[in-house]
Amino acid sequence: MSMLYLPEPVELSGRLGLPLSVTCFLIYFVVFHLVCAFFGISDHLKLFRKYKLHDSDEKTYLQLLPRVLFNQLVFFLPSCVFAERLGWVFRTPTQENTFSLWKLPIYLSLFSVYEEIIFYSAHRWLLHSKWGFTLLGHNVHHSTKGSVGISQHYMSVIDYFLEIVVAILVPLAIIRANAYFDLLIIVENAILGPYDHSGYDFFLGSLRRYSPVNHSMHHLRSSCSYGDSVGSMAILDSLFKTSFFHFGYQSFPKIKNDNKNKEEPKATGS
Ligand SMILES: [Zn+2]
Ligand SMILES: [Zn+2]
Repeated sequence: MSMLYLPEPVELSGRLGLPLSVTCFLIYFVVFHLVCAFFGISDHLKLFRKYKLHDSDEKTYLQLLPRVLFNQLVFFLPSCVFAERLGWVFRTPTQENTFSLWKLPIYLSLFSVYEEIIFYSAHRWLLHSKWGFTLLGHNVHHSTKGSVGISQHYMSVIDYFLEIVVAILVPLAIIRANAYFDLLIIVENAILGPYDHSGYDFFLGSLRRYSPVNHSMHHLRSSCSYGDSVGSMAILDSLFKTSFFHFGYQSFPKIKNDNKNKEEPKATGS
C-alpha cells in the first residue's frame, strides 16, 4: 500500500530487521540528501538560474555536510528510536490506530499548527532573544544565509533539538497517528526544509506566503519572518505581524559575497 509514493515502511523494516523508527529515519535521510544533492549540483553547475533568488552563502555544501550528518545521526535518529520505544511516534499501523484518508487534511493541519507554535515561539523568544542567540547557538545557523539547501540542518545542538527534534516529534506524539503519517511528515520536511534554505523559488514569488523568500529574508535580515515558512501556514507571523513585508522589506540586503563577486569575470574553477 504505497499510497503516498513512499516505500512501505512496515514491510521494509521487517525485511531489514530494523525498528520502524530507524527505517522511517533512513527513508527520510535518503530523501533529505537526494534533495540537498539536487540543490548542491544545481548550484555547482549553475542550473535553473532564473529561479535562484540569491547566492549569499559563503559556506559550501561540503563544508556544511559534516555538522548536518552529525546532527541527524547523533541527534535525530536516537530521538526517533527513543520516542518509538516510549510508544509516542512511529507506531506500527494497526486496526486501532488506522485512519481513513479523509482525516489526512485534518491531521496535516493539526501538525502544522502545533509545529508552528513550537517553532515560532522557540525561534523568536528563545533563539532570537538577547541572551539566547549566542548562548543557545542560533548564531551557528545564522552563519548561513539561506542559499544552500543543506544548511537547513546546519545548527548547534540546542538549536537542532528545539527546532527540529522537538518541533517535529512532539506534535507527532500529540497527534498519535501511526508510522505512515509520521513518515509522511518527516519526508515532507526533508523536501521543504532544504527548499526553504536553497535560495531557489521555483514559483518566482507567486506563492508569496509559501515562498523561500520568507526564510531567506529571515536569514538576511534576522528580525523578521520567524515562522517555518514553506509548508507552515504562517499563522503566527501574520498574527504578530512579523513577516518581512510587515516591516516593509522589499529586497534582500547586500551581503559581502553575493552574486556580484561571484559572477564577475572570475569564472575560473570555483
Ligand atoms: Zn533565526
Ligand atoms: Zn534557517
